[in-house]
Amino acid sequence: MVQTNQSLKLDAVVVGAGFSGLYMLYRLREAGFSTRVFEAATDVGGVWYANRYPGAKCDSESIIYNYTFSNELLQEWTWTSRFPEQAEILNYLNFVTDRLDLRRDIQFNTRISAAHYDEENKNWKIEADDGTAYIAKYFITGVGCLSASNIPNFKGLTSFKGEAYHTGHWPHEKVDFSGKRVGLIGTGSSGIQAIPVIAEEAGHLTVFQRTPAYSTPARNYRYDPEFIRQTKANYEEIRQQIRWSKMGYLHKVINNRSALEDTPEERQQEYEKVWEKGGLGFSQTYNDLLVNGESNETASEFIRSKIDEIIKDSNIAKKLKPSYYYSAKRPVLDTNYYETFNRNNVTLVDVKAAPIVEITPKGLKTSEAEHELDVIVFATGYDAMTGPLFKIDIRGKEGVSLKDKWADGTQTRTYLGIANAGFPNMFMITGPESPSVLSNVPVSIEQHVEWIGDCIEYLRNNEIETIEANLDAEEAWSKHCRELAESTLLTKVDSWYTGANIKDKPRGFLIYVGGVGQYRKICDDVAAKGYEGFSLIFTNKKITTA
Ligand code: NAP
Repeated sequence: MVQTNQSLKLDAVVVGAGFSGLYMLYRLREAGFSTRVFEAATDVGGVWYANRYPGAKCDSESIIYNYTFSNELLQEWTWTSRFPEQAEILNYLNFVTDRLDLRRDIQFNTRISAAHYDEENKNWKIEADDGTAYIAKYFITGVGCLSASNIPNFKGLTSFKGEAYHTGHWPHEKVDFSGKRVGLIGTGSSGIQAIPVIAEEAGHLTVFQRTPAYSTPARNYRYDPEFIRQTKANYEEIRQQIRWSKMGYLHKVINNRSALEDTPEERQQEYEKVWEKGGLGFSQTYNDLLVNGESNETASEFIRSKIDEIIKDSNIAKKLKPSYYYSAKRPVLDTNYYETFNRNNVTLVDVKAAPIVEITPKGLKTSEAEHELDVIVFATGYDAMTGPLFKIDIRGKEGVSLKDKWADGTQTRTYLGIANAGFPNMFMITGPESPSVLSNVPVSIEQHVEWIGDCIEYLRNNEIETIEANLDAEEAWSKHCRELAESTLLTKVDSWYTGANIKDKPRGFLIYVGGVGQYRKICDDVAAKGYEGFSLIFTNKKITTA
C-alpha cells in the first residue's frame, strides 16, 4: 500500500456511483459526514452506465424503479413507458445527481484497488489504482451484484480480428451491425434483449446458445398521462407497499393456491391471462411455482408450448425449449425474442451439443463447424455477487482478505448481507446473503443505505469507535439463508445465482429468499436491540450485544 496523504482523511469512502453509491453519499452528507464516492467510470450510473447494448432495458416497471426517499424527486421525474430503457434510467440517475448536487463529492475515473483495515488506528486505508490513498473511518461498497463481467477463457480469445464486445461494457458510440456477420454468445437476459434488435440490422446473426432460457413477453407500452398523475398522487402508498412486499414489486401472487389445485383447463386459462399481460408476474401465477417441482412443470410446459406455437421450424423450436425448472434461473422478459428465430438472417447454434472450442482470427469454431464472423457479442454474463467485491483487495483484521475468508469452506458467510466478522466499520450495500437480485433492486438499496446511515449516526451519537459482526451471528444468518434457499427450487439448477457459471467458483446460493419486507423487519429489530449480533467498541470499553 502506498503512503497515505493524511490530509485526505474522510469519514466515509463509498465505492461505486450507481443507485447505491449516489444515495449513500446523499444520506451520509446530509447527516454531516465527510464522504467521497469513487467511481471507475467517467460518469454516474453504475451498471446503467456500462450496459448500453442494443435493447437494454429493465424488467422492473419504471414507476417503482427509482428512489422513493424524496417526494420532490418522485414528483419532478416522469417515466415514459412501462419498462425503462437503459438511456432513460441513466438520464434519471443524472437527474438525481444534479438535483442533489452529488457530483462535487464523486471522484470519477478512479478505480479503488485496495482497502485495508488499520487495527491500531481503527480506520480504513483505501488505495486507488492511480496510486493515491485515503483514510476513512467507514468503508462502504456500492459495487453492485452484476458488475464483474465474465468472458469465458476460450482458446484463442484475443486472436479474433473483427470487433468484439461484452454486453456489460458496451461502447458509448453506436456499434454498426449493418450488413455484418454477427455472432452472439449467450441467451440470458442480456442476450435475449439484444438478439431481436441486432437481428433487425445485421446481415446475418448467429446465436450460440448453451442453455435455452424460459422467456415471457414484456409487453412494454408508453404510460398514459392519467396513469402517471394517479401514480404521483399515490406514491406514499406505493412506497409502503413495495417496502413491505415480498420482492419489492407491486405485483403479488396472482392465485394464492397451488397450480395443482386447478384443472389443466383452468391452469391454461390462468397462464394465458398472465402471458398476455406481460411483465414479471408470470412466475407469480400460482403460489408454489418456486417450491413444488410438479407445479413448476405446469408453467414450464406452458412456455414450451408457446415456443412451439411461435417458431415455424420444429427443429429450431426443439433447441429453444428448456427442460429445467422455470424461474430457478433468473426469469427473462423479452420483446419478440422467439419470433426472431423465424427470420431468414438468424441461425441458432446449439453449443451444448457442439461446444465452442476456439475463437479464431476469422470467427468462432465449435466442435462441429467454423463460423466466420465480423463481430462477436459476448452476452456471457457476470461473476455475480462476490465477483465485484473480489476486484478490490479488501483486508480486515490481521490482514485477512475477504477473498480468503470466503474461500475457506464452500460458503460465503456474512451477517445480514451487510457486514462481515473481522471487517469492522465496513458495510456492503446489497451484499451476498441480502435480498439483492431477488428483489426490485432499488428497494433493497434504499433499505440498506438507510440502515447503514442510521447505524453510522448511532455510532457517532453514542461515541462508538467500531462496529463488527460477531462470528456466531454471521454463522446463524448464513445458515438461515441456506435453509430458506434449500426449501425452494432455486438451488436445484445451475445458474449464476448458485455461482455455477464461473469455473471453480464455490457453489453457494448467496441471496436471502425470505423477501424484502421480512428482511427489513429483521434488520430493524437488530438495530432496535442496539445492533444485536454486532460487537460495538467504545473508546476504552468493549460491549458485545446479545
Ligand atoms: P446470464 O444470465 O448469466 O447469461 C449468460 C449466458 O451466456 C447464458 O446463456 C450462458 O449459458 C452463456 N454462456 C456463458 N458461458 C458460456 C460458454 N462458455 N459457452 C457458451 N455459452 C456461455 O447473463 P446476462 O444475460 O448478462 O444476465 C445476467 C443478469 O443480469 C440477469 O439474470 C439479470 O439479473 C441482469 N440483467 C437484467 C436485465 C433486465 O432487467 N432485463 C438485462 C440484462 C441483465 P448457460 O446458461 O449455459 O450458463
